[in-house]
Amino acid sequence: VRPSLLLLLALPALAAPRKPTQAPDPAATAALLLGQALSSDEAYEELRELCDDIGHRISGSPQLDAAIDWGMRRMTEDGLAVTLEPVDVPRWVRGPAKLELLPSRAGLAARELAILALGSSVSTPPEGIEAEVYVVSSFDAFDPARAKGKIVVWDAPFVGYGETVRYRGEGASVASRAGAVASLVRSVTDRSLYTPHTGNQRYAADVIPIPAAAITPEDAATLHRLQDHGSTPRLRLQLTATTEADVRSANVVGELRGRERPEEIVVLGCHLDSWDVGQGAQDDGAGCVTVMQAGALLAALPQAPRRTVRVVLFTNEENGLRGGKAYAAAHASERIVAAVEDDTGAGAPLGFSADLRDAKGDPDPAAFARLQAALQPQLGWLRPVGAAHLEAGWSGADIGGVVENGALGFGLEHDMSGYWIIHHTDADTFEKVDPDLVRRNVAAMTVFAWALAETPELLPAVQP
Ligand SMILES: [Zn+2]
Repeated sequence: VRPSLLLLLALPALAAPRKPTQAPDPAATAALLLGQALSSDEAYEELRELCDDIGHRISGSPQLDAAIDWGMRRMTEDGLAVTLEPVDVPRWVRGPAKLELLPSRAGLAARELAILALGSSVSTPPEGIEAEVYVVSSFDAFDPARAKGKIVVWDAPFVGYGETVRYRGEGASVASRAGAVASLVRSVTDRSLYTPHTGNQRYAADVIPIPAAAITPEDAATLHRLQDHGSTPRLRLQLTATTEADVRSANVVGELRGRERPEEIVVLGCHLDSWDVGQGAQDDGAGCVTVMQAGALLAALPQAPRRTVRVVLFTNEENGLRGGKAYAAAHASERIVAAVEDDTGAGAPLGFSADLRDAKGDPDPAAFARLQAALQPQLGWLRPVGAAHLEAGWSGADIGGVVENGALGFGLEHDMSGYWIIHHTDADTFEKVDPDLVRRNVAAMTVFAWALAETPELLPAVQP
């Protein structure tokens, strides 16, 4: 064959447009997505809308309904196929609350203490409860004989959220079982500037529900000192919280259908509900705009990722987890290969935790080692935003059900040094969120989602 003919034969191939079926270059696409994420404030602007135009969004509230409409509209504009999956959620309504430390002797005034009722708390009688306190630092140190007729104050030092939050969750039940008339918990935080932190609590099935609320670490310490120095402080407590009938809510699901394996699904999750204080900016508004923007950037690619990506704005994480449970049940027969949650604030992204379990549901270090080895190149794409670290750990509450059903579970990890101090308080507001960190979080989430949705041999590497 003469050279000229060879050239001629080659020409049509050279001139032909790039075949649409040709797979995108994974690393180049990751770099493109990273650059787009780092140069856009769209997620930050969405968070401002959510916080300022709608505000906090407790389950059953009109604001949560408005946020669901907003999420549906925004994700539709971003090019995702959006559906609402109905879920009935509890409706707990906080009323006014008042707590006073009564004077220790005649001539002194009562002092009003900051208080926030805990989710699902019952109210006091209208005239309130007046009782002596029994301050105790742990369940181990709790003496049931001292609690009868008292207001129990759980002054548990913060050693970590997972461990310390048990006093908020179970304290009222333990106190009630011993005959206490109310339960107050030191707010679950590592630092405090005299701010009470709300959160959920659950009455055990065998106890009489007693009023349950959070006080500041400062007041818990004061009451503890008074007790240690031989006085018996008395408190007057008035709570007016009520639990109403369940309300219809929904998970908002935005889908980008996979180009090659649409039946394999990667879920990006957050929760749209919040507590009824502050603006739910970091818990979990920031997580929602991050996964929404990741979905938007993936949808704008010339070709969709290999697998289907679903952005799920879960409902009712804070006081029921019904959105996460309903999603896992409704999609149990699908192949959700991986799920990533963003629900630990808007601090700098540090990497991802991987929640890999064996058949018994225990952590599986061998599977983690295989996953870590398999994802090395993809983790490298995250180095520019400091999020290349992968460690074994917890994924997220909302995606817990799908992880139990077999999905690889991941959590976007953040620097949480500024998180607990505002968590579940009136201080969880928009202006505390740093736009540069939002961009970096979006970059980390988008590139990681791309890695999970595009990498062909992800699953065989983990589950051989
Ligand atoms: Zn949260």
